[in-house]
Amino acid sequence: MGSYRKYWDAEIETMPREELKKYQLKLLREAVDYSYNRSPYYRRAFDMHNVKPEDLKSLEDLKRFPTMNKITLRERQQAVPDFGDITCVPEEEIVYMSASSGSTGVPTASPFTYQDFEDFQDFEARLFWSSGMRPSDRYVHALNFTLFVGGPDVIGAQKVGALCIWAGTVPSERMISILQTWRPTITWTTPSYAWYLGETAKAQGIDPAKDLAIKKIFVAGEPGGSIPETREAIEALWGADLYDYYGLSDIFGACAGMCEEKDGLHWAEDHIFTEVIDPETGEEVEEGARGELVLTSIKKKARPLIRFRTADIVSYTTEKCRCGRTHMRLHGIHGRLDDMLIIKGVNVFPSDIEAIVRKNPDLTGEYRIIVTEEMHLASITVEVEHAPHVHGDVSRLGAEVEKECLKIVGIKPRVKVLAPNTLPRATHKAKRVFDERKPG
Ligand SMILES: [Zn+2]
Repeated sequence: MGSYRKYWDAEIETMPREELKKYQLKLLREAVDYSYNRSPYYRRAFDMHNVKPEDLKSLEDLKRFPTMNKITLRERQQAVPDFGDITCVPEEEIVYMSASSGSTGVPTASPFTYQDFEDFQDFEARLFWSSGMRPSDRYVHALNFTLFVGGPDVIGAQKVGALCIWAGTVPSERMISILQTWRPTITWTTPSYAWYLGETAKAQGIDPAKDLAIKKIFVAGEPGGSIPETREAIEALWGADLYDYYGLSDIFGACAGMCEEKDGLHWAEDHIFTEVIDPETGEEVEEGARGELVLTSIKKKARPLIRFRTADIVSYTTEKCRCGRTHMRLHGIHGRLDDMLIIKGVNVFPSDIEAIVRKNPDLTGEYRIIVTEEMHLASITVEVEHAPHVHGDVSRLGAEVEKECLKIVGIKPRVKVLAPNTLPRATHKAKRVFDERKPG
C-alpha cells in the first residue's frame, strides 16, 4: 500500500490558504459574471439588490449579493419549465440531472453539463482517496440510484481504481449476502442503516467485525457520522473505520468528506465557496461557532448556485489538518434548521440528545424525541431503551439521561426507559422527532 501516492491532487489539496483564496476569488468573479450574463433569474436578483458582478472585488464582497434557497429553485423551475431560469445553458449541453423531492413532493432537478459531471466525479475520487480508498479495495455502493445525486458517486470510486459493486438500496438479506460472497472492503450508506445492517447480520449469527471484510464505512445523510459516540458504536459493531460525508443534491453527491485523520470533513474549496452565517441575522459567525451553511458553486456551468442557504447547521475550522490538507473542515453537521427544536428558549438539536444516549453503555442507543405542548410551552420526552444486560429498576437510567441533558443541552426533558427492541428500527434515514403539537 505504501507505493500509492498520498494525495489525489497534491497541488490543490495542500495549497497554502492565501493562494487558495486568490484562486477562489478569480473563479468566483467568473462565476458571478457568468451567472449574471446567462441567467435571467440572477440578472433580476442582482439588479434588485443593486449589485453588479464587478462589485465583487474581494471574497468579503460576496456578502452584498442576494441569497437563495431550496424554495427559490423550486419556484424558478415551476415558473420556467423544465429546468428554471437559474439554468445557464441550453438543454443540448445538459448530460445528467438528479432530482430531489422536497417536503411538498415537487421534485427539483439539478442539471449538469458534461464538464460539471466530470468535475463532480474527479472530486468524488479525491474524497474517496483522502479517506484511504485505493485500487486494491472492493467498494460496494449502497446508495439509491434512482434520481439521487449520490448514485453516480460510484463512478468516483471507479476512477480511484477500486473494484466497484453497484448494489444500490437492496434488501438487507441481499446486502449481507453480497458482503459474504464478494467480501468488499468499503461501503457507503447512512449511519442508521450501517447500524441496522450490522445488527441484522448479528441476529443471523454473522459477526460483522470478524466474519465480513468491511474495513471502512462512509456515511452521509444524518448527523450521526460526526457524533463521536455514534461513530464509535458503529465502528465497534463492524470493526471498521467510519468516515462522515456531506452531500447536497443541488451541488454534488458529496461536497465534503473525512480524511484518514477523521478530524472533520474536508471541503473542496476549489469547487465550492462556503460561508457560515447566523440564520436569523445573516451575519457571518466565527470559526468554531454554529451557523447555517451557505454555498456558492464556483465552477458549475449548467446551474451555478450563488449563496445557496442549505438550512444545515454546521461549525468549521480553517486550521491545517494533520494530513497536510489545507482546505477547511466541517466539525460535522449538527442538524437541519428544520429539525431544530426551541424548548423553553433553548435551541435543541436531536444530534445533541443522540450523543448523550449513545454514550451510555446501559442503553441500546436507539431513541425517539416526542414534542408536546404544555401550557403553551413546548416540552420534550425522550424515549430510550435499556440494554438487554440491564435488569431490575431502570429508572436510574432515565435520571442519568435527564442530568446529562441538563448539563450539555441546557434543558431537562422527561425520559422514558423502555425495554430493548421496543422502538422501531430505522433502515435508511431515521425519523427521530415526533412533533405532537397542534399546528399554529
Ligand atoms: Zn485531513
